[in-house]
Amino acid sequence: MKPCDLCSLDCGNKPFDLVTPEKTLQFCCEGCRGIYEMLHDIKAAPAQTTQNNPNSPERKPT
Ligand SMILES: [Zn+2]
Repeated sequence: MKPCDLCSLDCGNKPFDLVTPEKTLQFCCEGCRGIYEMLHDIKAAPAQTTQNNPNSPERKPT
């Protein structure tokens, strides 16, 4: 069992994932995930869409 990354309670069978650039966090409930996002100013990655977006905002200095 994976403990919630916020409150350390059991995540249960269906943890709430939060994918960050560094790692994937797991929470026991949507509330915990939301609070963690707020605390760390995290913007959740888009859910399993193609990562190679041709319109990705890449800044290229000229
Ligand atoms: Zn929790």
